[in-house]
Amino acid sequence: MDIKKEYDKNNVFYKIINNQLPSKKVYESDSVLAFHDINPASKVHVLVIPKKEYINYSDFISNAQKDEIAEFFIEIEKVAKEYLNLDDYKLITNCGPKSGQVVFHFHVHIIA
Ligand code: AMP
Repeated sequence: MDIKKEYDKNNVFYKIINNQLPSKKVYESDSVLAFHDINPASKVHVLVIPKKEYINYSDFISNAQKDEIAEFFIEIEKVAKEYLNLDDYKLITNCGPKSGQVVFHFHVHIIA
């Protein structure tokens, strides 16, 4: 598979953000959405995504504003602590097809 360089709106998370597909929402703000993974790898498996269009972690870090990056990671902590009541958890982000990324809208997995 080619490394994706352009954001492709034909991905499931873009459709979830735009209410073209349903999701089991955990948390939503103006800039962030968190929802349960459709195929959970563990008892708790939630995906956190920025609503803006970034392909993956590398695209996000390279092109987002620093306060946007900070806010996103602060929101992840809020989702884990306040909305999922987790003390211990794992964060994973697959960056690029060779890492196992299959949905090309940046997302972080919260797994516990
Ligand atoms: P990644 O391999 O990091 O790209 O992970 C993509 C994740 O998205 C996988 O864990 C899938 O189970 C999950 N996924 C795919 N489609 C949906 C969907 N419609 N709703 C929720 N999670 C999904």
